[in-house]
Amino acid sequence: MTDRQRVAIVTGAARGIGAATAQRLAADGFAVAAVDLDAANCADTVAAIAATKGRAIAVGADVSDAAAVEAAVAHVAEHLGSPSVLVNNAGVLRDNLLFKMSDDDWDTVMSVHLRGAFLCSRAVQKYMVEQKYGRIVSLSSTSALGNRGQANYAAAKAGLQGFTKTLAIELGPFGITANAVAPGFIVTEMTAATAARVGVDFEAFQAARAAETPVRRVGRPEDVAHAISYLASEGAGFVTGQVIYVAGGPRG
Ligand code: NAP
Repeated sequence: MTDRQRVAIVTGAARGIGAATAQRLAADGFAVAAVDLDAANCADTVAAIAATKGRAIAVGADVSDAAAVEAAVAHVAEHLGSPSVLVNNAGVLRDNLLFKMSDDDWDTVMSVHLRGAFLCSRAVQKYMVEQKYGRIVSLSSTSALGNRGQANYAAAKAGLQGFTKTLAIELGPFGITANAVAPGFIVTEMTAATAARVGVDFEAFQAARAAETPVRRVGRPEDVAHAISYLASEGAGFVTGQVIYVAGGPRG
């Protein structure tokens, strides 16, 4: 690598774990491309980074749309430079018990998590291979171990672990690592929506999850961003194909 500023792409960076990760990577010295469905929704993330003298741009793209992903990555390469870090974070939930799960519930979750990570990783790898350097971090979940009402999400998050291990094997010779971070319960709009769906007050929902978590608290987006920061660092070059559970315990 040259000594120019390294570039990181974070998908789903408008809020939650993605926003915290974008800010953390900017604090680590990366120029950050905050990608989300609508670039305007990344305004707060970009402003927070600018306020700390970091460098960031907002990019609009649906990660499940191949043409949009190719265009977004080309835009980042042109405006910030070749990406050396990709964080596959964009995600959605369509929870339902199997007998009520629609085709669309299944397809939407597969498209955003699995197809999205595939398309983004494929788009960035050519820049990383050229540089002979790269870090790809994908968001898995403790749900990969199985979770009631999440057959679609659990399958996608387990799939991301196999995807990650395969990228590690294929891209390792080019100085590129691929790892997954598997969070437990993290306080974001995603978990707030889950509490609302099951009709439980979000504070009570968090208290119940904290009580059953070994470290006796729920997670914050910054907890996940910290693990991603490590995996995205140059010093983590001998760590690849791994899944780090960030869950306050071995299984959340
Ligand atoms: P979040 O608050 O719901 O944020 C997800 C972001 O992804 C939103 O800004 C959303 O945009 C964006 N997004 C959705 N579909 C997209 C698409 N097709 N293309 C581009 N962006 C898209 O979620 P979070 O809780 O921060 O979760 C982030 C990641 O961590 C997800 O992969 C999630 O599965 C994983 N995770 C979360 C938890 C947790 O407890 N929160 C636990 C384990 C794993 P819109 O607002 O426009 O939809």
